Amino acid sequence: MLPRISPSWQTSSWQKLLAQAISDPIELLAMLDLAPDALPLGQAARRQFALRVPRGYVARMRKGDPDDPLLRQVFPLSDEESLAAGFNTDPVGDLAAMPAPGVLHKYEGRVLLVTTGACAIHCRYCFRRHFPYSDANPAANGWDAALNYIAADPTVSEILLSGGDPLILTDQRLAPLAQRLSAIPHLKRLRIHTRLPIVLPERVDDALLAWLGSIRLKPVIVIHANHANEIDGPVRDALSRLAQAGVVLFNQTVLLRGVNDSATALTDLSVALFEAGVTPYYLHLLDKVQGAAHFETEISHARRLMEDLRNCLPGYLVPRLVHEQPGAPSKLPLL
Ligand SMILES: *Cc1c(COP(=O)(O)O)cnc(C)c1O
Ligand code: SF4
Repeated sequence: MLPRISPSWQTSSWQKLLAQAISDPIELLAMLDLAPDALPLGQAARRQFALRVPRGYVARMRKGDPDDPLLRQVFPLSDEESLAAGFNTDPVGDLAAMPAPGVLHKYEGRVLLVTTGACAIHCRYCFRRHFPYSDANPAANGWDAALNYIAADPTVSEILLSGGDPLILTDQRLAPLAQRLSAIPHLKRLRIHTRLPIVLPERVDDALLAWLGSIRLKPVIVIHANHANEIDGPVRDALSRLAQAGVVLFNQTVLLRGVNDSATALTDLSVALFEAGVTPYYLHLLDKVQGAAHFETEISHARRLMEDLRNCLPGYLVPRLVHEQPGAPSKLPLL
């Protein structure tokens, strides 16, 4: 039996905060004491992938700085509208690895469920910003096709909930899904890839902790933080509540030009993560998704950064530099 969670007619406080997210670029700039033309807005980019950022995340941005590393992650720039060679709409080969709608099976033992297309924040470099979520919805027919696929393959020991952001689904939907996954005997771990503890830490409330802490599967959460300025007091509290509920916490970062492509930024991030109880896991090279070419860094620069990190951090705070290649049997390390 799962503990009781609040009935569905009750809107929780995180849902209210989500509804108040900023979607107007000019309003965002004004909140930061920036002029309306402080950054070149891409109207077509914004129509393709809307601006969306929770107010609590905006509060962590520096005022008066158009180069703020958090602002750069969310502001739709006109740069996104130039097409770049090698950048496309399905950079990691998702559509070729989908045995059932929203089910991605690329690696041995692990199956990923694209639970939803929605997110609390829209990250401009998102590799799924063009993903056809409405055609690949595993929640259609009550998750049956996805759950049947996983149940039929005894080699699968870990289920990853991804998206979009799985924690944007309500606990009324997630708790029963977790319960049905727990009933599949060969599954051992439930891994959630989410940016919500970072961008809307209020999401980590008692209802979430209740079902996460009570399932048979070992819960793992991979958060997605790209910069130390993202980790403030409420984020540390949320992460510590997750750890107390028995959740193992890792972080993955995308290496982004103009955001975190310096040794100082990456060192500060690793240290801030450790202080919040999170182990650095992956540092991803940018996936070449259309609209994100201005975030790309040279591979040689990435390798130099890794050398700097190895030289000035304990080994356990150095993330693994990886990139994803369509068709490869794992994320590929860059040595
Ligand atoms: C990245 C990814 C995983 C997880 O890979 P790990 O190396 O175990 O973190 C699993 N399935 C898919 C489809 C992925 O893209
Ligand atoms: S939260 Fe994750 S899935 Fe959502 S837009 Fe950002 S990177 Fe993409």
